[in-house]
Amino acid sequence: MKADIRASCLRRAYFRFALTLAPLPVVIWLAARGQPLAAALLFCTVLTTMVIGTLVPRCPLFGRMIKQLPQAENQALLTIDDGPHPEHTPAILDILDRHRIKALFFLVGKNAAQHPQLVREIVARGHEIGNHTQTHPAGTFWILHPARLWREIADCQETLASLCPDQPPRFFRPPAGHHNLFTALIAHALGLRMMLWSARGFDGVLTDVPTITQRIARRLKAGAIVLIHEGTPVAVEVALAVASLLAASGLKCVPPDSLAFSDDEVVVERRAAP
Ligand SMILES: [Zn+2]
Repeated sequence: MKADIRASCLRRAYFRFALTLAPLPVVIWLAARGQPLAAALLFCTVLTTMVIGTLVPRCPLFGRMIKQLPQAENQALLTIDDGPHPEHTPAILDILDRHRIKALFFLVGKNAAQHPQLVREIVARGHEIGNHTQTHPAGTFWILHPARLWREIADCQETLASLCPDQPPRFFRPPAGHHNLFTALIAHALGLRMMLWSARGFDGVLTDVPTITQRIARRLKAGAIVLIHEGTPVAVEVALAVASLLAASGLKCVPPDSLAFSDDEVVVERRAAP
C-alpha cells in the first residue's frame, strides 16, 4: 500500500517537473526565429518563478502551507525546531512547564533516534512532535529530487511514529523553510501538512538574545506561529526570553493538540486552550 502511494506520488512529481520544462521548446523556437530578447525574457521569467517558489520560505507557489493560525482568536503557537538535544530539550521543557506553554517540536529523525527518551518525554509532558526530515540537509534540501525528498520525510515519519505510535507527526516543516516543486506534494502523500511560521528571530544565525527576541516581538500578533531552535549557542536563553514574551503578550498559547484541519487545510481550533 505504502509502495503504491510512493510510486503514484513520485509519478505526479516527475510529471510536475516535466510541465515546468514545457516553456523550454518555446524558448528555443523564439531564439531560432531570431527573437533572442523574447526568448531570454521567457527563460528568465520561468527561472525567477522557480527560484522564488523554492527559496522564499513562505511562498505558497508550489503547494499549500500553514503560515499562521486563524486571527479571529487571540492566539499564538510556539514551534521549536531541530531537536531533540540532550542538554537543551530538558531545560526547554522545564521552561515551558513553568510558563504553562505547550509547544510543537519539529524533530530531526536522526536526533530522535539518538535520544528516544527525550522524544517520549516531550510527548509525555503534553507537547506535540512534528516531522523535520531524517537528516536535516538544510543546504541542499531545496534541490533534492523527489525520491530523496520522499526518503527524508518518510524515514523521519517512521522514526518518530515508531517512538510515539499513539501520536505520529501531523505536521512537516522543511529545513530552513526551503521547499521545491515536489515538497508539499510528497508531504501531503505521507499524510502531513506543511507548516512554516510567521514570527522568527533568526536564532539559528544570530546570538544576541535581545535582538532575537525583539525581532519575534515585532511579528507577534494574533494568529502568530513562532519559530525558535534547539542546538544553537543561545537556545535555552532564547526559549526563556520567548516564553516570557508570550506570557506578557496577552496572546493565548494554543496547545498543538487543539489544532485540526478543515478540508481546505485551514487550521482550526478543536478545543479551547486550558
Ligand atoms: Zn531546522
